[in-house]
This record gives sequence, structure tokens and C-alpha cells, in this order.
Amino acid sequence: CGIVGYIGTQQAAPLLGEGLARLEHRGYDSAGMAVLGSSGIRVHKRAGRVRDLVDGLPKRFGGKVGIGHTRWATHGPANDTNAHPHTDSDGRVAVVHNGIIDNAGALREELSDAGVELASDTDTEVLAHLIARSEADTLERKVADALARVQGTYGLAVVHADFPDQVVAARNGSPLLVGVGEKEMYVASDLAAIVRHTTTVAHLEDGEMATVTAGGFTTYRLDASGLAAAPRHAKQLD
Ligand code: GLU
Repeated sequence: CGIVGYIGTQQAAPLLGEGLARLEHRGYDSAGMAVLGSSGIRVHKRAGRVRDLVDGLPKRFGGKVGIGHTRWATHGPANDTNAHPHTDSDGRVAVVHNGIIDNAGALREELSDAGVELASDTDTEVLAHLIARSEADTLERKVADALARVQGTYGLAVVHADFPDQVVAARNGSPLLVGVGEKEMYVASDLAAIVRHTTTVAHLEDGEMATVTAGGFTTYRLDASGLAAAPRHAKQLD
């Protein structure tokens, strides 16, 4: 339902909590966040309100990179396990997703046949496993590999412990924008989540991806042969 991501010089968790609170008006049943710090990815998520999520944040939840989500359940009941972010089995990839993966059933079956234990009932979780299993050498290519297998709609944001200085975002049928700050960058499904921090934004189009670092972002178009350069520039909103 709602996505917010951060990469920069500040602690991510409080900014993600604030962004999620600003997405509450869209409706949701669960909320969660993942931060990427020196000891890898940590996830905190639960059914219920953003305020309870934030009040229950573990003491040590440090990291200057992170992604957050408010969920409106489509696949699997609203419970703590089905809340986003979802991770691969090693907890090295975390994904938040808006939309519906139509072929999730077949992909879940294929992953279980390959020995993967699925932790949730969601369609989203397959993305985390597919990204982790890609042998591509960059995060945007791993995400592109996973998305090549997927039919459906998505706005998504991904972090990976092996690529600690980036957040990758992708859009197909569910809005997503990149917000440009001072030595920091945001990703959001709705400007409301980040408008207090920046109004310099680039909206992704369907079929586009972005690799976002603290210092800037690069956009691509997903096509049959993989990723093609598709430069998109941020504009200052009036
Ligand atoms: N289909 C996903 C789920 O049920 C995402 C729902 C949403 O857009 O919040 O978990």
C-alpha cells in the first residue's frame, strides 16, 4: 500500500517511521521497516498501527539505509509474519512491495521445489528469494532478473546486505518516486511521505527502475533484453 525508503547521513528508522505515519491516511493493516547497518539487515514489522511499530522499535536499530511499508493485505491474512519487508532465507535481501504478483503461486511452488522455505503467505516474498538467487553482479540486475520472472503490478524498494550503499526501486502499475535531498535521497509511493524533507523529485514510469545512493540516482528501463539506460532527472515541484 505505502512505501518509503531512505539513504543518507541520518539514522533511517525515525525517518521511515515518520514517512509511514504520513501514509496512514491511505489505509493499511500492518507496517514494517528494514534498516541496513554495519551488522547487516534488521527487520521490525507487525500487524497494527504505525505508532505501535515505532514505539516497539528495538533499541539497537541503527543504519543510514532503510525501507518501510504499510500493507493492505491481498495475499495472506494481516499478521506479523505477512507484514513487509520480506527477506530471503539468509536475511540478506529485504523487499517492500505495493501491488499484486499474479504468478506468485507458480513461483512459490518452484521455489519450494528448489528447497526454499517460504516464511509467509504473501505474493511479495517470492521477490526476495528470486533476487537473492540471481547470479547477476549488480543489485539492479538481480532485481531485473527477478522482475523478468514476475507477472503483475508493483512498486517496490529493495536493500541488499552485499550492496550496502544503495536502494533499488522499480515500478509497474503502482506509483513510485525518488526524492533528492542534501547528501540524502528518498524513495516513496506518495509525495506525502517525504514532502517535509524534499520537493525535488523524479517520478518513475511503468517499466522503470532506479538505483539510489546517498549522492544521486540512476534510472533504467526494463526491457526484453534486460536493463536499458533511460536517464530521468529530478524536478523541483512548485
Ligand atoms: N500483495 C502484497 C501483500 O499482500 C502487497 C499488498 C500492498 O500493496 O500493500 O502483501
